[in-house]
Amino acid sequence: MSKISQIYGSNVFDKRTMREKLPSATYACLMRTVEQGEPLDLEVANVVAHAMKEWAIEKGATHFTHWFQPLSGVTSEKHDAFLSPEEDGSAITRFSGKELIQGEPDASSFPSGGLRATFEARGYTAWDPTSYAFIKDEVLCIPTAFCSYRGEALDKKTPLLRSMHAVEAQAKRVLALFGEFPERIVTTVGAEQEFFLISERDYAAREDLVLTGRTLFGAPPCKGQELDEHYFGAIRPTVNAFMKELDDELWALGISARTKHNEVAPAQHELAPIFANANRAIDENLLTMEKMRLLASHHGLVCLLHEKPFEGINGSGKHDNWSLAAGDKNLLDPGDNPVENLRFLVFLTAVIEAVDNYQELLRMSVASAGNDHRLGAHEAPPAIVSIFLGDELGAIMESLINGTEYHSAGQVAMDLGVAVLPNFLKDNTDRNRTSPFAFTGNKFEFRMPGSNVNLADANTVLNTAVAKSLKGFADALEDVPTERFESAAIAWVKRSLTDHQRIVFNGNGYAGEWEEEAARRGLANHKTTADALPAYVAPKSIALFEEFGVLNETEVRSRYEVKLDKYIKLLSIECRVMKRMARRTYIPAISRYATETAQNVAALDAIGVDCASQRDLAARLAAGIVEAARATRELDALHKQAEAIDDSQERATFYAHQVVPAMSALRRAIDGLEIITCRDFWPAPSYNNLLFYV
Ligand code: ADP
Ligand code: MG
Repeated sequence: MSKISQIYGSNVFDKRTMREKLPSATYACLMRTVEQGEPLDLEVANVVAHAMKEWAIEKGATHFTHWFQPLSGVTSEKHDAFLSPEEDGSAITRFSGKELIQGEPDASSFPSGGLRATFEARGYTAWDPTSYAFIKDEVLCIPTAFCSYRGEALDKKTPLLRSMHAVEAQAKRVLALFGEFPERIVTTVGAEQEFFLISERDYAAREDLVLTGRTLFGAPPCKGQELDEHYFGAIRPTVNAFMKELDDELWALGISARTKHNEVAPAQHELAPIFANANRAIDENLLTMEKMRLLASHHGLVCLLHEKPFEGINGSGKHDNWSLAAGDKNLLDPGDNPVENLRFLVFLTAVIEAVDNYQELLRMSVASAGNDHRLGAHEAPPAIVSIFLGDELGAIMESLINGTEYHSAGQVAMDLGVAVLPNFLKDNTDRNRTSPFAFTGNKFEFRMPGSNVNLADANTVLNTAVAKSLKGFADALEDVPTERFESAAIAWVKRSLTDHQRIVFNGNGYAGEWEEEAARRGLANHKTTADALPAYVAPKSIALFEEFGVLNETEVRSRYEVKLDKYIKLLSIECRVMKRMARRTYIPAISRYATETAQNVAALDAIGVDCASQRDLAARLAAGIVEAARATRELDALHKQAEAIDDSQERATFYAHQVVPAMSALRRAIDGLEIITCRDFWPAPSYNNLLFYV
């Protein structure tokens, strides 16, 4: 057996293992829960728990944990030993069905955005049998949802699952009109993860990286990414050793890590798995991130998952490839016959409508202090949401809207709704890298999410918004007689595309003119998190989430508060670190060099040697110190002013528009001095070191 097939999934309690370890009646019951969402009774859970425990112990596990995703975004776990002491002093291992199904972490230490007041400190975790249990570091991890005792969601997974149900239900209604009745429809996600690897030694020497995950100071390196030599170049040996270990660990966890390559920026890399059901894909992505961080240390490396660790160098994204699958049929795959084509056009249109209607919610779903530095920085999509369809599909859309006949490049005339969409769509996939939301042949690729984000929010919004458009289609067509169905469906596609064509943009998303054009089209352009977050609590958003039972108003408002709070706290920490580094690290170091330069001037002067350039340097250093000190005081004043604002939205807005510019000003002052200060005096590794000496 090959190495991969030997280790693949070996640490996962997956279907194969379940079939092997469970009595067949239990297996059948469990599958009905997993596949058809039937409730699981305690008897069955007891049997599953016992088998799971025996399997885990055989694999060396000693503990179990309910693994969940609180609103802070990172995963949480509390380990309990499988241990049960007996009266006679011995101990046996025990793990009951109840312990499998439900846990009770102390919810008070997780952000709840005010929900805590209504539910006290208690919360519970509930097993999500649609994502497999796995063993990580001798702990059996059980993926769970995390809710308050009143049933309010306190995590990222619960609304995601609800949104998957919502879109499934509406997609089924639509497919029924096409005479198709699949058992399940799932949203599929493939998350491409970008990251940086730098040396542990350099990392440890940068307070800003250690405390905030990004460099708050640092002049540009002499060489950036202009030579493109890093991209797809040979992977360096240290990095390769790391990647190998990572692959092995991920494969053992049943994570299909498939593609890995260097990225555009120096020291930047990407790892892409094979797509899976959205719920699993997101669990897997979170595990991947955790493993990346952990395993890097085995190789003297640090993995940076921040969206923009280095100013002026490409940031890291996490492209969210998204589609809907009915069994093994991809609903965004253009078909081979007229009916399939029409179905494809309906689903495509539903997504276009959804993205236009809820563009601000989508932008909100990827908003974070880190991603603000990345979006619109001429390397990632702008903060404006738009859709790329490509030339051919764009032309088809035009002809639908205008009622004109469509001729493909191959001269295949297409009488819409009756002819076959030309096959080019499948091969001729998009290579426009500047679009935030691109159709790539048989799926959409949402490129705004930053590397550090939990993709649950973005997919929750996307699923719910698409559920809404599909519902519109089903409501409008359910009463139409069969013989008129086709023409009515085409009419719906045409009307919806006409109403939402403004969101389609096939040009260069990085160009300045696009911003102006987008403004003319009335598209939103929220450049900062503070500006993007209010869309979460807009009446239209709350109505959407409530209509599909994804989040109620209280849950939405609490989530908005948590996001605001996190944004404010991060920026406040960055301010503190900047001020501290400026005052205690940079200014003293530059002063020492200024002193040496001045002494040098005096010494040269004493022997009558021309020292004009040293004198000039000393003057520039002295003036630079004055400016850096001024910028530090200015930042300090604004930081204090921000912290004194009561209302959290106002405080966030003040940070975004007053404090962040002051942070940039301080950075510019220090970075300007870095390039004229002798390297022996510079107290932190430079960008040259960080990026090229891995
Ligand atoms: P790129 O050219 O952007 O690197 P790839 O073809 O390598 O794109 O695919 C990127 C990701 O998209 C992979 O993780 C892949 O598994 C995923 N993907 C492919 N098909 C689908 C689909 N139907 N639904 C969701 N994700 C998909
Ligand atoms: Mg991609």
